[in-house]
Amino acid sequence: MNLRKLKLFFRFHWIAVLIVIFASIAMISLFVFLRNAILAWGDSEYYAQRAILAQYSFLFYVFFMVNLISLPLTGALWIWIMKGGHQRIAGLHKPTIKGGEIKINWSDVIGMEEVKIETKEIVNLIRDRSAVHRVGGKIIRGLLMLGPPGCGKTYLAKAIATECDLPFISASGSEFVEMFVGVGASRIRKLFKQARNAAYAEGGCIVFIDEIDALARQRSGDKGFGGQSEYNQTINQLLVELDGLKESEQNIVVVGATNVKEDELDQAILRPGRFDRKIYVSLPSLEERKQIFAYYLKRIEYDRSQVEPLRLARLTAGRSPADIANIIREAALIAARKKKERTQLDDLTEAMERIELGLRHPAKYSKKEKEWVAYHEAGHALALYLCAPHREVSKISIIRRKSTGGVVWGSQIGEVMPKKEELLGNIKVSLGAYAAEKIKFGYTSSGVSGDFDKALKTAYLMVWCWGLGKSGYLGNFDQLMMAERHISEETKKNLDSDMQDILHTCLQEVEEVLLKEREILDYLSAQLIEKEELNYDQIEEVFKKFNKSRPGK
Ligand code: ZN
Repeated sequence: MNLRKLKLFFRFHWIAVLIVIFASIAMISLFVFLRNAILAWGDSEYYAQRAILAQYSFLFYVFFMVNLISLPLTGALWIWIMKGGHQRIAGLHKPTIKGGEIKINWSDVIGMEEVKIETKEIVNLIRDRSAVHRVGGKIIRGLLMLGPPGCGKTYLAKAIATECDLPFISASGSEFVEMFVGVGASRIRKLFKQARNAAYAEGGCIVFIDEIDALARQRSGDKGFGGQSEYNQTINQLLVELDGLKESEQNIVVVGATNVKEDELDQAILRPGRFDRKIYVSLPSLEERKQIFAYYLKRIEYDRSQVEPLRLARLTAGRSPADIANIIREAALIAARKKKERTQLDDLTEAMERIELGLRHPAKYSKKEKEWVAYHEAGHALALYLCAPHREVSKISIIRRKSTGGVVWGSQIGEVMPKKEELLGNIKVSLGAYAAEKIKFGYTSSGVSGDFDKALKTAYLMVWCWGLGKSGYLGNFDQLMMAERHISEETKKNLDSDMQDILHTCLQEVEEVLLKEREILDYLSAQLIEKEELNYDQIEEVFKKFNKSRPGK
């Protein structure tokens, strides 16, 4: 292995080696000349000394100058090489990191147990290639990780490199997308050349290409300006390199990651021998989010009496591990800014709001506006508490933020496919604000548009896709529409009327509930106007005051 590294070193740095040899010869010659001159000097008469001086001084001068120039030049060249300058000239910005230096172990990969098992298996295959050969198995060349952003695909790839103890080269698909024909392809070539060199020296290499969809989306017709042919050349080069790996004995594994769906990728890259191993990384489940929170909370000082990973996990349905890490970081900063010793639940929810909804708006509400927002949010909260038992009201806020007036945080308690009742409950929660505005003020504001959006979307899916409409239509009509297949006008009309039926029934029901509980609505709104924010315990207190408990509890 050492001999290989040495060879590789000479292959890269032969110019530097030559210069060093040249400088060394120059140095040695200088000393020899000096020595000879001094020896001759001591033995000679005066006239002879003058002759020696004349003889040697010119040569001395030349060699002195050569040394003066070549030594600093050699030094500078070495520093440049050490800093990787020669790689920049070659058009490669990629540092090769050794597997052992990444230090991301399995224990750091949290909240993705199933994926971990799959990945471990792959690591074993990469590590023990001879065993694979023995059993006649297929060696892994390409591995594709699919899943939403922030779910730890890069992390997994790094863990693979650490566990296999192989060098890791990371690149992003977008780096290979260029205007000029051939540039992307040449970058791919360079990337793989670097990987081959690393594999030659270290016994293997992991190449990670993030956002691989940027260079491997389905090919379509020419869009003009030669963009398409440049694109084709790049992807063709990638395919050539992947196929080249199959034949070579070097242990190079290419890990691609993408956020897009599998069928949006160029099918050529998914063929056997290319990216034929797939790992699906999904958003973490409730239990996984709990683990992730527990992991990141270990890194900060927090108030153990009120901050529980499970509660936080319930508040963050649909968030990725990266989001969770971000929330904890932000919360710790907020706590530090408030000069608290420990991060508290308020800081965490404030962090979530800040990340999701933006910073607090500097302008305050007028009295009228504030009342309006308070009733709007109280309507949501009341509907959530009384009509959607599958969710929990964690926080209500009417603090103005960049993107919204107020917010009710309703966390998911269970985590299964929603039942029809729960879907209807969600629609009622969305329409609760509209109902509250109507009850209190007699007319409604434009603030309900976002809520209508949500309600309409749910009703649409129920009727058009999931067969939950009143008329009993079965089938995924949305898919039919997308495929431009024929749907009769009558069917469309009935589906739309089913949708409106769901919305109207829900609105009627939530209106009835709010009218019946008008007292709580008024009290909750008054509390909001006074305090601007109500947390979980404060909300529970309000309902306790009116002897209300959540249905089903
Ligand atoms: Zn609303």
